Amino acid sequence: MHELAIAESVVGAVVDKVGDGAVVAVRVEIGRLSGVVADSLRFCFEVVVNGTGLQDARLDIDEPSGRAYCRTCGDEFELDDPIMLCPCGSADLEVLSGQQLRIISVEVV
Ligand SMILES: [Zn+2]
Repeated sequence: MHELAIAESVVGAVVDKVGDGAVVAVRVEIGRLSGVVADSLRFCFEVVVNGTGLQDARLDIDEPSGRAYCRTCGDEFELDDPIMLCPCGSADLEVLSGQQLRIISVEVV
């Protein structure tokens, strides 16, 4: 499962930074076009944190909309759907944002 690998790398990155200290909350940002399902990530996170300093940590997930540029009509617009189509009907899009996945903040005791 895709989300399991992501949860493992998030937890790994946090442990690398804060060591064995107890973590209260982790905030991550997953763009709506990243293909990551927030609920699955939450589930995997709870499995992966077992036995780490993140055991009782809260996982906060931001899901910002993506943006895309249409090479056909030159429009730039917000995109929430992984099926990428411009309102003009063109699929010739350049994704500007929305595929990011990053840790925004880590709150420790
Ligand atoms: Zn267009």
